[in-house]
Amino acid sequence: MVEAFAVASGKGGTGKTTSTLALGMALAERYDVTVIDADTGMANLLFHAGLDDADVTLHDLLVADRDVAVDAAVYERFGMSVVPCGTSLTAFEAADPGKLRDVVTELAADTDVLLLDSPAALGSKSAVLPVVLADRVVVVLQPTVPSLSDGLKVQEYARSYGTETAGVLFNRVRPDEDVAAISDQAARYFGGTTLASVPESDAVRAARRAGEPLLAHAPTDPAADAFHEAAGNLEVRAGDAAGVADRFRSAVVPDRP
Ligand code: ADP
Ligand code: MG
Repeated sequence: MVEAFAVASGKGGTGKTTSTLALGMALAERYDVTVIDADTGMANLLFHAGLDDADVTLHDLLVADRDVAVDAAVYERFGMSVVPCGTSLTAFEAADPGKLRDVVTELAADTDVLLLDSPAALGSKSAVLPVVLADRVVVVLQPTVPSLSDGLKVQEYARSYGTETAGVLFNRVRPDEDVAAISDQAARYFGGTTLASVPESDAVRAARRAGEPLLAHAPTDPAADAFHEAAGNLEVRAGDAAGVADRFRSAVVPDRP
């Protein structure tokens, strides 16, 4: 079985990378999880996962005439299979985003849950592809009206490509914020459910500095609890791996009207 989720948001800095790794670790308690840094232009998952010195990354898999096997860019870390992406602008420019389809197809054959850490701006082909490839999208938001508005655009974009919303994950929630009111609005406008509200937490920043996912660095922090709750609320659907692989392989990125 496999289901692919894009972890996406309207803007950078909402916590997509943090959430991808935290959800990945929480889901890895029940599933075989593969996490991919599909934010190929602004890759930073490697810094969150202690993989800054990784020799082979997703960029090496996206070049024309590649001679490295997909496996060479898969690192077993924190109970998950992690595919980091490099940070070189030259490598990004040399990469063919369309090749992400083949890589995801191959990875889908051997995992239960695929999490695609996705780019923020949805304007370009490389940015939109993870959302197109995914079965469902997890929208990461702050509990504010402007952030909801950004998230709705992500959902609209995803739907235009046939990708449904798995749920909304509120992140960086401060004690004085009225999540309940915003959450009511989110329930009205978004598909899926509110997965959890993750508090603003020093432990999240400390984990990043230590190059570890939050659930490895501070497994009992309230933010870690919230990510566990979110993972528990994500009901993973058992897609047939061969069917999913076919869909990935044939996914086209339509031009925007
Ligand atoms: P994105 O991938 O959406 O750009 P990141 O996951 O890299 O966002 O997070 C951006 C910054 O915010 C990082 O420095 C991260 O440590 C911090 N951050 C994310 N979530 C939280 C949180 N719940 N509490 C405190 N800091 C957070
Ligand atoms: Mg990121």
